[in-house]
Amino acid sequence: RAKEQGKNTYHIYTPSLNVQTYKIFTLERDLRKAIENDQLELYYQPMVHAVSSEIVGVEALIRWNHPEWGLVSPNEFIPLAEETGLILKLSKWVKQAACSQNKAWQNTGLPTIPISINLSAHRFLHKDLLKNVSDFLNESNLDPQYLEIEITETILMENRETVLNTLSELKKMGIKIALDDFGTGYSSLAYLKQFKDKIDTIKIDRSFIKDLEDKDTQFILSSIVELAHHLNMTVVAEGVEKQEQLNLTRRFKCDIIQGFIFSEAVPADRFTKLLKMKRLDPIDPTGETSEKI
Ligand code: C2E
Ligand code: MG
Ligand code: MG
Ligand code: MG
Repeated sequence: RAKEQGKNTYHIYTPSLNVQTYKIFTLERDLRKAIENDQLELYYQPMVHAVSSEIVGVEALIRWNHPEWGLVSPNEFIPLAEETGLILKLSKWVKQAACSQNKAWQNTGLPTIPISINLSAHRFLHKDLLKNVSDFLNESNLDPQYLEIEITETILMENRETVLNTLSELKKMGIKIALDDFGTGYSSLAYLKQFKDKIDTIKIDRSFIKDLEDKDTQFILSSIVELAHHLNMTVVAEGVEKQEQLNLTRRFKCDIIQGFIFSEAVPADRFTKLLKMKRLDPIDPTGETSEKI
């Protein structure tokens, strides 16, 4: 293609593209050592009850403190970890860190809430997942009901038999399952019913919340919520940032709110402070008037 475009194509090698290429190169090179060098850290974002505003869950989100690039987003290095196979090692680290952190919070008498971790498709579909999960639950001594595993729709569309089986086994262990980024895959709503009793929670993707002034999007949201409730699933609204979005997610009966309006993901010590509060107040970064509870 570069040839077709002739001589002038060198202009695409802008400095920023070079920097990006160099960044990916160094990240890939350094990822292997990141765990040993203690550069990975979990951040924690509260999930807040839509009605009571109490913290009812927490999602663990990985961060990489890279010596050269600073805090690197998982969107940048999880794909690299998947490509290089390092995702298995990385997931193991995440599970251990999340379970022991949650156990630590419980031991200090803070409210007992489930912790959610994200599992990539590769990790979820790997044959030793079940053994691996039960091993670290034993190690951390965390009651399985306080662990939730987040998977994406794409996983469900893989080998359905295997996936259903894995989900059943995880359920038998007492672990909760959430369907993350719901609505972004190509699956139909009807397929959800196959996963009744397997999936506890669906997390509505941020793209719907962003668009909530749109009447059609509102209708889709309320239909998803109605169906999910009919199937006994809890609904989390992801990426709620504004007061108006909060009002609408409440009006459309979402059960749990996660988003910057309550808190971004924060380091463990800051999350501890949040957990000590009875309920969180919405903070609208756009400065629209917050409702007083
Ligand atoms: P996700 O699981 O859907 O996590 C939610 C993402 O949305 C997080 O980004 C969170 O910081 C961000 N977010 C939350 N509330 C808001 C909001 O109100 N507005 C906006 N604009 N964003 C919000 P983060 O931490 O950068 O993570 C990105 C993705 O990386 C996650 O999406 C998840 O798919 C993946 N990820 C994170 N940690 C892990 C991990 O430990 N393992 C795996 N396999 N994937 C992970
Ligand atoms: Mg997630
Ligand atoms: Mg999500
Ligand atoms: Mg995601």
